[in-house]
Amino acid sequence: MALNPLLDSRDLRFALFEVLDADKFNQFEKFADFDRDTYEATLELAEQIAVELVYPANKEADTIGAKYDPADKTVTVPEGFHTAMKSYTEAGFSGLSNGQEYGGTGMPETIYRAVMEYFCAGGVAFSSYDTLKVGACDLIINHGSEELKKTYVEKMVSGRWGGTMCLTEPGAGSDVGALKTRAVKQPDGTYKITGQKIFITAGDNDLYENIIHPVLARIDGDPPGTPGISIFIVPKFFVNPDGTLGKRNDVTTTGIEHKMGIKGSATCSLSFGDNDQCIGWLLGQERQGMKIMFQMMNAARLDVAQQALGTASSAYMHAVTYAKNRLQGSDPAKRGDFTSVPIIKHPDVKRMLIWMKAQVEAMRMLTLLAAYSADMAHVKKGTDEGKEAQALLDFLIPLCKAGNSDLAWLVTAEAMHVYGGYGYCSEYPVEQLARDCKILAIYEGTNGIQSMDLAMRKLLMNPEMFNFTVFKKRIAAACEKAKGIVDDKYIAAVKEAVDKMDAAVQTLAGWRDSKKILDILAIATPLQQAMRMIAHAWMHLWSMTVAVPKLKGIAGDIEGEKVAAVVKDNAEAAFYYGKILSNKFYLSTELRHLYGYLEYITGGDPAAVNECFEEVFTGALPQ
Ligand SMILES: Cc1cc2nc3c(=O)[nH]c(=O)nc-3n(C[C@H](O)[C@H](O)[C@H](O)COP(=O)(O)OP(=O)(O)OC[C@H]3O[C@@H](n4cnc5c(N)ncnc54)[C@H](O)[C@@H]3O)c2cc1C
Repeated sequence: MALNPLLDSRDLRFALFEVLDADKFNQFEKFADFDRDTYEATLELAEQIAVELVYPANKEADTIGAKYDPADKTVTVPEGFHTAMKSYTEAGFSGLSNGQEYGGTGMPETIYRAVMEYFCAGGVAFSSYDTLKVGACDLIINHGSEELKKTYVEKMVSGRWGGTMCLTEPGAGSDVGALKTRAVKQPDGTYKITGQKIFITAGDNDLYENIIHPVLARIDGDPPGTPGISIFIVPKFFVNPDGTLGKRNDVTTTGIEHKMGIKGSATCSLSFGDNDQCIGWLLGQERQGMKIMFQMMNAARLDVAQQALGTASSAYMHAVTYAKNRLQGSDPAKRGDFTSVPIIKHPDVKRMLIWMKAQVEAMRMLTLLAAYSADMAHVKKGTDEGKEAQALLDFLIPLCKAGNSDLAWLVTAEAMHVYGGYGYCSEYPVEQLARDCKILAIYEGTNGIQSMDLAMRKLLMNPEMFNFTVFKKRIAAACEKAKGIVDDKYIAAVKEAVDKMDAAVQTLAGWRDSKKILDILAIATPLQQAMRMIAHAWMHLWSMTVAVPKLKGIAGDIEGEKVAAVVKDNAEAAFYYGKILSNKFYLSTELRHLYGYLEYITGGDPAAVNECFEEVFTGALPQ
């Protein structure tokens, strides 16, 4: 397996095929056409395009950025993105997860997400174009009329036409229900749309011949807030009956943002209906807009999780390479010998690297598990197994979106530390990764909003806390399976973590019952972070259960001098040995942070937050 600077392909295969058995999807009719060889060929091609085209283009795009021409109100993206996108679409990645009836490949979501990890590691800015298009296209497939499907889907699947998601407005960010964009029904059944949307990723660009905007708006007379929102398909160019492009719709790009990172991603302000001629087509039923958009938002949250994972992975890989090559200081194990050694010999550097490795590997497994759950919910729909898979997916989405994006920021920061002063300089790659990933905690619902979603909708208000019950049931099964394979102390660590979390959740359920909702909201973020640690502990125990017998099979044991000798010149043994150390580090050391979070959640004083009226924060200027 080729080495690359972006992600550990061996670890991706481990998660996909040794832990999740993704190669067995062909037992289901929907995926009968695919086998391990097809998946391998797809992953290898993705790796090649990501490493050879996307990664260099993304570095270049950081300097050039997307450009807005105020004269003709158009946006252009760096040339390298055109070259990379051409190869990407020609290779069929644009329609990888779409059904064959729409011209796609129809692969499982698990494989699609594994492939996307390569492209996200290659560059978040590049990945932002196609991921939103996939989401917009899926909305039309799942909720569009036959006419909408016929008009748009095939061209979007093929990658000729792009897509966006248009929610945000100047006065409606986290509070989508506050939107002011209006829709008025026309006698021919279409709607006239007027309003301003801001921060629209890929809202305009020259990568695609046409751009299809799903736009949230309120039909005149409909109720305020989210219940009154409908969703419309608004193309940049109208489409003639023969499928060719017609004249331009009344959608104007009024500017792009100048940002800290992802500079190649065009973040656009769009004005709909400046000349009262912007036409949109209703998707689904009137006032069903939020329900429909939630489908795209859930997928987009996993896209963001993937972007975070890809960035963290790339930062970690770069840090390892640097640490193996940078000579500084003498070997701490050889007193009196002043020969310079690679910094990877220093315990503090090793600590940073194993910490990054353990985080990245857990993020990867959890994100793929979420995708796997989406596939299982689909193929097992209508059964108890399908219901449980859906419940697990719902629970994991905020943990992957917020968890991965919080960690990506920390992992990229740690990678900068491994580089020392060079990490702070733009000549080296990690500072761009840190700048690029900061947005991931903010867009697609800030991590504060994700945490509230987890605490309330997914946990405490979820009927009978079914999601959490499924989550705990799966962890209990993993503990059972680990018995006799993994040292009991690691199983006990996971059990203790779950028991203590369970007790904390019971306390919070008491707060819910006594209507102390503000107190719950005040600890939602630490709760989400603690729950993510439990999920990651589960991933580490699960992978240890798989890795231990594999290493024993190669080296006879999992530790000791004999094993270390085998590991030195056997790449497979080295992989499993490193995997087990990463598991041990997380379960014996990193997981201890959990108890601080749990103390914070139930032992702290939420009143110290909630009694902070505005005047408490003295010294700030009034607006
Ligand atoms: C680069 C970029 C790309 C984007 N792409 C898109 C896109 O393609 N489509 C799109 O529609 N939007 C997009 N957005 C918008 C993005 O989703 C919003 O910025 C985000 O949802 C937050 O909204 P806001 O910026 O108005 O912040 P605000 O909503 O003003 O939030 C500010 C702070 O207050 C907190 N807060 C707000 N309300 C609550 C509450 N009820 N409870 C607790 N805390 C709260 C937030 O968590 C945050 O910390 C993009 C933004 C950026 C910067």
